[in-house]
Amino acid sequence: MDLFQQISAALPQLSLLAEEPLSKHCSFRVGGPAEVFAQPASVQELSALLRLCQTLGVRPVLLGAGTNVVCPDEGLRGVVICTKENLSGLRQISETEIEAECGVTLARLAGFARDLGLTGLEFAHGIPGTVGGGMVMNAGAYGGEMRQVAEAATALLPDGSVRDFIGPEQQLSYRHSAFMDLGCVVLRAIFRLQPGDKEQISETMRELNARRRASQPLEYPSAGSFFKRPTGYFAGKLIQDAGLKGFCVGGAQVSEKHAGFVINTGNATAADIRALMAEVQRRVRESAGVELQPEVRFL
Ligand SMILES: Cc1cc2nc3c(=O)[nH]c(=O)nc-3n(C[C@H](O)[C@H](O)[C@H](O)COP(=O)(O)OP(=O)(O)OC[C@H]3O[C@@H](n4cnc5c(N)ncnc54)[C@H](O)[C@@H]3O)c2cc1C
Repeated sequence: MDLFQQISAALPQLSLLAEEPLSKHCSFRVGGPAEVFAQPASVQELSALLRLCQTLGVRPVLLGAGTNVVCPDEGLRGVVICTKENLSGLRQISETEIEAECGVTLARLAGFARDLGLTGLEFAHGIPGTVGGGMVMNAGAYGGEMRQVAEAATALLPDGSVRDFIGPEQQLSYRHSAFMDLGCVVLRAIFRLQPGDKEQISETMRELNARRRASQPLEYPSAGSFFKRPTGYFAGKLIQDAGLKGFCVGGAQVSEKHAGFVINTGNATAADIRALMAEVQRRVRESAGVELQPEVRFL
């Protein structure tokens, strides 16, 4: 029996696809097939799959909305688990607290908070990822970040145990978290917000989304800001100053609109993106003496 057959025999209810193109599941639109692509419908199903992977000696790769990743051209052997939309439980648990499962999109989470008249998640409304990816990356924008609102998270550790991470135990810092370091799977998170005015919250979201549309190349596939912000600099400005706006490798391009974004102009491969990244890093190192580190995750 191959891996797909082994998993479907052990977990017959689980939604599974064989050789599923990863390009369909990431915002960069690159990547070959996943040997097994699983979409668990509940946290219980996800936990059962993770236990099975452990028994089979397979280390699964997690995918939320795939908006901060580059998937390899040759695809991935083993199991890719996609949480987006399926693991989408969302509820108010106290006057100012919301609990969300990992597959809830940040837009839906922020909209849910707004509808309850709770402020604090306006920054997240325009970030195209999920709660799971957002917690792992400590996603942030326009002065807000998950760290400010994430009260606690429940995660599955690689040894199969479930652990609650309360407050500082989450170690949320710039595009970094304890979940990333420990290689664990974020199952759900609790957000603590403040009472606010619904109309004001909506207005802030509209304003931030308009700023995003005006400055970012949202009409092209990308993974958002490609590089982390180096201390004391802006990656986009360094890249622009190195004369790299519009610079291309194959179908990958430094956006003309925002030099901090790498876009797929139509037929980019992961190899194009990697080669472009290496050249941008080299030229910025030479021109400004700064080492750019990717924010996007190469799977
Ligand atoms: C147009 C555009 C604009 C963007 N703007 C912003 C922005 O303003 N601010 C910002 O911070 N980011 C931004 N991003 C990047 C991205 O949306 C965020 O990093 C987001 O939090 C990623 O969530 P995701 O669900 O897509 O994660 P994915 O890309 O699917 O995964 C990211 C990482 O998290 C891991 N992961 C995903 N889910 C889980 C889980 N449940 N448990 C454990 N690991 C998991 C993956 O294995 C991977 O390593 C932007 C991206 C795009 C395309």
